[in-house]
Amino acid sequence: MKYNASTVEKANAEMELRRNKAETDAAVRRAEVYRKYPEVKTIDDKIASASLEFIRIMTVADPVERKRQLDALQTENLEMQRMQREFLTGCGYSADWLEPRWFCPKCRDTGTRGGKVCGCYETLLRQIAYRELCESSPLDLCSFDDFDLGYYPDNDGNGGLSSRAVMKSIRDYCRMYAEDFSPESPNLLMYGSTGLGKTHLSLSIAGEVIKKGFTVIYDSCPNMTSRLEDEHFRRADGDTSESLLECDLLIIDDLGTEFLSQFTVSAIYNIINTRLLRRKPTIISTNLDIGGIQDRYSERIASRIIGEYTLLKFAGKDVRQLRK
Ligand SMILES: [Zn+2]
Repeated sequence: MKYNASTVEKANAEMELRRNKAETDAAVRRAEVYRKYPEVKTIDDKIASASLEFIRIMTVADPVERKRQLDALQTENLEMQRMQREFLTGCGYSADWLEPRWFCPKCRDTGTRGGKVCGCYETLLRQIAYRELCESSPLDLCSFDDFDLGYYPDNDGNGGLSSRAVMKSIRDYCRMYAEDFSPESPNLLMYGSTGLGKTHLSLSIAGEVIKKGFTVIYDSCPNMTSRLEDEHFRRADGDTSESLLECDLLIIDDLGTEFLSQFTVSAIYNIINTRLLRRKPTIISTNLDIGGIQDRYSERIASRIIGEYTLLKFAGKDVRQLRK
């Protein structure tokens, strides 16, 4: 996957931050230990002077004598390190107390090991790329707890379920969906007229699923398609398409409000279809009803959505109007 320059820049800055933090924290711990136990500093100084001693020994002409001195230095050094650890544990510290606590001990927060890119750096790039795609969405503003059922009438059932009862079961279903989320979770289609809480519930799912450590992209359909268009026609850098196809959960908000063109229709089909083939869950929310989806899109998009998604029909009156 390729990343745009700003993603790489942010990732490098974050790696540097991690490295600095690990080193600064270690320096602070060391200074504190030195202050309480000057003996530790004495041992450290001896260990440090060993590297000077090493350089001197390398100039010894006689190979036998050189090896003897090197062996002695190594033995002494190991002994110093042992004493250091023993002293530290004796004072109630862990033996590695003075060592930096790397975010990724494998590469010591350098992002590379053995000439190869470390997994931690790959993960960071992906996270930043996803975050950039979600930038316009308030992922942390909505939760299931502040989804207020009070806005939905409970007297409009006419012998069937009231809007409030319908919305309670939809809210509970979405909460369960988020709590049990896995790559095998079903696809959801949230539909119903505007202002019934589709965005609220899909954002709540996004927030929970992210907390569980999955990668989530949340974007409005107009945003998503225009970004794809930019990359396709104007050769903007980045790889939105691959991110949309690869993330663990993709949430497409407001399907049906995007500008309709041959390009957008085929882009939407490609995303929906490829994710179905890769068995990666997708959530779509739309103000269109089933007939509206069939009218607006080709038969193949409509049948993919209607046939392969769990349909959640939202009920009630425009909550945003009621709030005002
Ligand atoms: Zn690493």
